[in-house]
Amino acid sequence: MSSKEQTSMFKKWKDPSNRSKLYINGEWIEAKGKNTLSVHNPATGEKIAEIASAGKEDVEYAIRSAREAFDNGVWRTTSAHERSRLLIEVAKKIEQNLEELAELEMINNGKTVREAQGDIEDAAKTFRFYAGLAIKSSEEILEVDNPFTSKVVREPIGVCGQIIPWNYPLLMASWKLAPALAAGNVCILKPSEVTPLTAIRLFELLDDVGFPPGVVNLIIGNGVNAGQPLTESYDVDKIAFTGGTATGKKIVETSVGNLKKVSLELGGKSPNIIFADCDYETALDYATFAIFNNAGQVCSAGSRLLVEKDIYDQFVQDLIEATKKIKVGNGKDPSSQMGPLVSEQHMNKVLNYISIGKEEGATIGCGGNRILKDGNHNGYFVEPTIFVDVDPNSTIAREEIFGPVLCVIPFETEREALRLANDTPYGLAAGIFTSNSEKADRMVKGLRAGVVWVNTYEQNLIEGPWGGYKESGIGRELGTYGFNEYTEVKQVIHSLHVEPSGWFS
Ligand code: NAP
Repeated sequence: MSSKEQTSMFKKWKDPSNRSKLYINGEWIEAKGKNTLSVHNPATGEKIAEIASAGKEDVEYAIRSAREAFDNGVWRTTSAHERSRLLIEVAKKIEQNLEELAELEMINNGKTVREAQGDIEDAAKTFRFYAGLAIKSSEEILEVDNPFTSKVVREPIGVCGQIIPWNYPLLMASWKLAPALAAGNVCILKPSEVTPLTAIRLFELLDDVGFPPGVVNLIIGNGVNAGQPLTESYDVDKIAFTGGTATGKKIVETSVGNLKKVSLELGGKSPNIIFADCDYETALDYATFAIFNNAGQVCSAGSRLLVEKDIYDQFVQDLIEATKKIKVGNGKDPSSQMGPLVSEQHMNKVLNYISIGKEEGATIGCGGNRILKDGNHNGYFVEPTIFVDVDPNSTIAREEIFGPVLCVIPFETEREALRLANDTPYGLAAGIFTSNSEKADRMVKGLRAGVVWVNTYEQNLIEGPWGGYKESGIGRELGTYGFNEYTEVKQVIHSLHVEPSGWFS
């Protein structure tokens, strides 16, 4: 994108007369209450947009529009090939607008250019993957006794409320919209109020592609005003939520009225386990990547690093050296390797956890402070931080910090590593580094987590299931598993002999 084009893009976001609206029933509309919310660049603290903010009335209008679109069959009866074609068009539009979307993600979320571009590429891939699944028949014929046949079909659930967080704004929107639309559902997306910009741009692209009115709807606003009415509505058939575990529990409560389907992708405190027989350089590299990628704002971050005693001292020393070299800065600088935290509020939450760690007597290996130099005065930058010799029962070892803060814990035996790894209410992900495949296999079987990486970390594959054990969630996203979460199962039993049953005669 030329710098002239960039300037006009930012003018558009800043100009209140052009300010972005809600997308409901195929139209961009003002919020009924004329309320707005401000959006900031976390690298500078600067306000970058003023966005329409939905209230209950707007959410109700979105639900009515979606309900009508589902009930009149405008999307669910569209042929699978046509649904697939439109999803491929979305993927193409995302690819054609990659630079602009990455730029928006960077200025709104604080990601580095590399992180932002990777997310946008993955978002396009997600639409392509589900375009393929849309046309894959999932019909199943069962072997049953004569004179009956039994056919099992999957059908769309209906109106889906999709509520997403701020750490991967466009990618999370794609993980929600693509499988739901592929399966024939209609959607109401609610992004985080902190990071709505790429969702707005995505809906401009969806509008260009031309979905029937009411099939895709965007409401922006805070959790209580825009999210909760979706969860409470009897006209919403499913809530797909990604966010914190506390919010997820609340959503289960507020969704219970009509027993709508609820799938939850929640928080984590994932163990990354380094055995002495690992490939040392690989394990060291992934230990930093697992926690400092995306400034630690990753649900599956390897935030508890368990290191075998035999290599503990050397590994920790090398880890600290490597961490001190990470270049923290504004994502727009191509040399930045880690950006800021997403907001001032979130930065303060992370800094508070660092203070708690210190108060509880944990030893700081490196970092531990806000960065207020090199032109970063107004941004929300925090040093990559390592606590060493951490007590597994301390607050920082048990609670999700969701920032660049690593807790390193030593262990002596495989059994102890497994016990420490599973000693958490969460169960999203885990990593194991070892050159012993039998040991890896034993650990994989013992770990209570939805995703286990062996000799790698944070490889997310669209083709496979993503989700958590225990308090990390309910259900799975991605792959065929994610598609199935957006379907109801119907069995059709057909008699080939049309005759009375004779039961009462
Ligand atoms: P959050 O505070 O739980 O918010 C997530 C979304 O829920 C936001 O859109 C929020 O709106 C909305 N919300 C808040 N209260 C609500 C309510 N009562 N009813 C309906 N919606 C409500 O989480 P976050 O701070 O944005 O994201 C960080 C969390 O997400 C972490 O715990 C992380 O582990 C988790 N996460 C999990 C996965 C996964 O795949 N398992 C992936 C990414 C992130 P507003 O923020 O606009 O008010």
